[in-house]
Amino acid sequence: MLTIERLTHVYGNGTRALDGVDLTIPPGMFGLLGPNGAGKSTLMRTIATLQTPTSGAINFNGIDVIAEPERLRRTLGYLPQDFGVYPRVSAYDMLDHMAVLKGVATPAERKDTVESLLNQVNLWAVRKKALAGFSGGMRQRFGIAQALIGNPQLIIVDEPTAGLDPEERNRFLNLLGEIGDEVVVILSTHIVEDVADLCPRMAVLAGGRILLEGAPLDLIEATRGRIWQKTIARSELDDHRERYRVISTRLFAGRTIIHVMSDTDPGEGFAPVRGGLEDVYFSTLDASRRAAA
Ligand code: ADP
Repeated sequence: MLTIERLTHVYGNGTRALDGVDLTIPPGMFGLLGPNGAGKSTLMRTIATLQTPTSGAINFNGIDVIAEPERLRRTLGYLPQDFGVYPRVSAYDMLDHMAVLKGVATPAERKDTVESLLNQVNLWAVRKKALAGFSGGMRQRFGIAQALIGNPQLIIVDEPTAGLDPEERNRFLNLLGEIGDEVVVILSTHIVEDVADLCPRMAVLAGGRILLEGAPLDLIEATRGRIWQKTIARSELDDHRERYRVISTRLFAGRTIIHVMSDTDPGEGFAPVRGGLEDVYFSTLDASRRAAA
């Protein structure tokens, strides 16, 4: 169990990237959903002990993460948003090197670890290829392999599907879904489907604050009877935005499908629809924007 209490981070330039975050994350996949600039990477880096927060507390299975970063690192697997350089080293040699750094000391144990991880992430066939020549999807699968070295109990993946094509994304998410239920896995993303496909629990972060937390199915259920859909011409969009609480718009066959949130039937061509996680997400962001305005 990971508990985060009143976590605040203010950068040197005064940006308040985290503003009193309280979260309790049980074992299993947890989706942290938020738009760009929400504070997701700041939160992920702080939990991964790469930066110290301005104030607040983080505890993981009895480890005081801020006071004892070394203890946490021993049980942490982290896939950063950006790995930076991809060297001309082969996948096998790089993973072996990372296993040394992670403390997998004996050559026999390392061989076992590296071979089973390369098989698990389906990179065995390309193990001798340089990482520099890997596709985006292969890089992310390598990223998961290195994050899994040493059987971590806490795994953090920061925006892992950005830039992957649908097939690669699918493979990657399947791989994440295979990680054991007893491990805490935090998936940070701005892509609603990543969370909808994979996470039994989630939270929405925006402006450094947790706006919503719960099980996607419960959160969707809570919108029942309040989401209405209408198909309009693009030219009608501005007018509808003025008259209704439009929470999302989507193009379909050259027309615009809008979703509106309303406790009562808005009439005028609107039909009730079963909401999805996108409706939950966009209505939450919309409500927070309205509150701030
Ligand atoms: P996300 O990962 O959700 O896009 P970030 O944690 O990267 O959000 O950023 C949250 C806010 O903090 C943004 O306003 C961003 O510009 C700012 N920020 C991030 N890193 C720094 C930094 N090193 N110095 C100053 N501001 C930063």
